Amino acid sequence: MAKRDYYEVLGLSKGVARDDIKKAYRKIAMKYHPDKNPGDKEAESRFKEAAEAYSVLNDDQKKAHYDQFGHAPEGGMGGNPFEGFSGGGFGVDLSDALRIFMEGFGGGGGLGDIFGGGSARNRGRARGSDLKVKLLLTLEEIATGVTKKLKVKRFENCSDCGGSGAQKGTGKTNCSVCHGRGEVQQVSRSMFGQFVNIQPCTNCDGTGEVIANPCRTCRGDGRIRKESVVSAKIPAGVHAGNYMTLRGEGNAARRNGQQGDLIVLIDEKEHDLFIRDEDNIYLELVIDMAQAVMGTEIEIPTLTGKVNLKIPAGSQSGKILRLRGKGIPRLNSNMLGDQMVKIQIQTPTKPSKHEREIYKRLADHYGDQRKDKSVFRKIKSLL
Ligand SMILES: [Zn+2]
Ligand SMILES: [Zn+2]
Repeated sequence: MAKRDYYEVLGLSKGVARDDIKKAYRKIAMKYHPDKNPGDKEAESRFKEAAEAYSVLNDDQKKAHYDQFGHAPEGGMGGNPFEGFSGGGFGVDLSDALRIFMEGFGGGGGLGDIFGGGSARNRGRARGSDLKVKLLLTLEEIATGVTKKLKVKRFENCSDCGGSGAQKGTGKTNCSVCHGRGEVQQVSRSMFGQFVNIQPCTNCDGTGEVIANPCRTCRGDGRIRKESVVSAKIPAGVHAGNYMTLRGEGNAARRNGQQGDLIVLIDEKEHDLFIRDEDNIYLELVIDMAQAVMGTEIEIPTLTGKVNLKIPAGSQSGKILRLRGKGIPRLNSNMLGDQMVKIQIQTPTKPSKHEREIYKRLADHYGDQRKDKSVFRKIKSLL
């Protein structure tokens, strides 16, 4: 199913204020909240869709990216654990959606009450923290797209206890303080009315379970620190400042919680020869006076190999020749930039005796014709 535009999902148009995004999401989330529509799959998918739209549009960085690039194309890569650019392949499951809803509007005292105190349902699993890595790419890699192996130090599930934190062969018991709920409710009254304050249970760290015999490898944490290699498929045409979200490649949470995400920030390495201007790249080519007068053909480096470039006879210094399609592809589009080659004519500074003779003959040839023929022109730009 094609993904709907996030603004459309929330019934908004681009350029809408942050407050209105939240209001629109709140309205839709309230209408389709699973607690109000038990067993209604359509409502559930509307609820998830709205949560996804909100989580992107409510985040300045993600919103800017979505506004620029929209949804990434759906890659037909079955079983690929990596998502495309954030805002694209990114999808939310119900527990994500509930978490987004809870984070947006808080639990106790607020909206939770409207659903008849169904807060236990909203208790998502603990989620590991997100990780960020910077990825420096060459212009060549950006021009073609590239798959990179990233070394990541992160928490992973402990294999000795399968992430449970309990020593093999031993079990867990329900926490006696919160009776397995993982949270405790405190009801307080004030002049404004009754408030229900829900907090994670401190006895079981919000897990609802206590471990009698903790795993020795991870000391009951359910996870260990490891260095792993994650591969990231970077599409062609990215810019410094773009980022990619690899879902579930961040830190593991304690005791089989949900994995955080790995956020890959793209940076661009300065090139020895080329300068990039959006999709185009620029190169300066120095030729001698004879080449400029007579014309020639020169092998030119591009980001994808060498090509021959014809320099027309009579080329002036400063002239720009265009190699079509030899620039950088535009992200998520079929457009291709060009390579610009700027001609620079070099005047010999240390001519040999022989060269001096030739230039002398040339000067004699022009002779008196040049007198009174100097050309003056207004400078086009001071740069
Ligand atoms: Zn363990
Ligand atoms: Zn507890």
